[in-house]
Amino acid sequence: MPGAHPGARVREAASYADGVIAGAHVSSAGGLHNVPARAAAIAADGVQVFIQSARTWKPTAHRPEDLAVLRAARESGQVQYIVCHAIYFINLATDEPALLEKSRAALLNTIDVANAIAADGIVLHVGSHKGRGLEATLPQIVAELKVALAHLDGPWLLLENSAGAGGTIGRDPVELASIINAVDHPRLGLCIDTCHAYVSGVDVTDPQQLDALVEQLDTLVGIDRLRCLHVNDAAAACGSNRDRHANVGEGEMGDGLALTLSHPLLADLPMLLETPGHEGNGPDAQEIATLRALHAAGLKRRQAKQKRAR
Ligand SMILES: [Zn+2]
Ligand SMILES: [Zn+2]
Repeated sequence: MPGAHPGARVREAASYADGVIAGAHVSSAGGLHNVPARAAAIAADGVQVFIQSARTWKPTAHRPEDLAVLRAARESGQVQYIVCHAIYFINLATDEPALLEKSRAALLNTIDVANAIAADGIVLHVGSHKGRGLEATLPQIVAELKVALAHLDGPWLLLENSAGAGGTIGRDPVELASIINAVDHPRLGLCIDTCHAYVSGVDVTDPQQLDALVEQLDTLVGIDRLRCLHVNDAAAACGSNRDRHANVGEGEMGDGLALTLSHPLLADLPMLLETPGHEGNGPDAQEIATLRALHAAGLKRRQAKQKRAR
């Protein structure tokens, strides 16, 4: 069994207390030592960071003292949760040897930095099979993940569900589960993105569809492997496969996100925004406040429903 679950305190909505870790993707421009202050400026409890430019293969040479600042912030609890998002170029399913080699190097570099800052996790998009199908590429993906997992020293490696475009792997939980079960490692888990789930065709603002998704994840891999949520509203329709994030509460999912965030098996997970923000600079203080408000509203509604049912 995997270790203690961040949402282990699976609770009745009636026992509501706002213990949510409301976090966000935060810029690491100028160095990772800048991250704790940026998180504090928007009142984020947790952060997601890129450890190198997301648009280039070239790794950033971090100063050890910069890494130490972020590590100390995590260890003191000033920052309560940290994930490093691996760059988007990585494709563990590619049939091009040069691209695979670069992907492996980039992932290992991300893991090294995540280890150094005592991050909780590394979020990874597995890549695209470009039409060859998951089954054909699964052995390679499994082999690459095993190499990566051997480098982990503390964090979890979290596979993120995709928006479902083209041959992107992870468009539904079954795909991610088949990878996780084939690798069979105690710290290989999942990060579910609300927008990606929605545009890939699961309306997680609908109680039946949400319950079915969570139940499916629990049955296939065990809910303990779900370690965090990316909370994004969708600027594209359900089933559109278009990866367009909207500010929370302002997109297609709107207030329906309150239901998603308050699901008893999701409500205690760390929640990380990857939204455009109101100035277009990424998640801001207003976004964090809206995330907390939606979470609280969802729990209250569930509580009221429970009371009525009694
Ligand atoms: Zn995401
Ligand atoms: Zn996305």
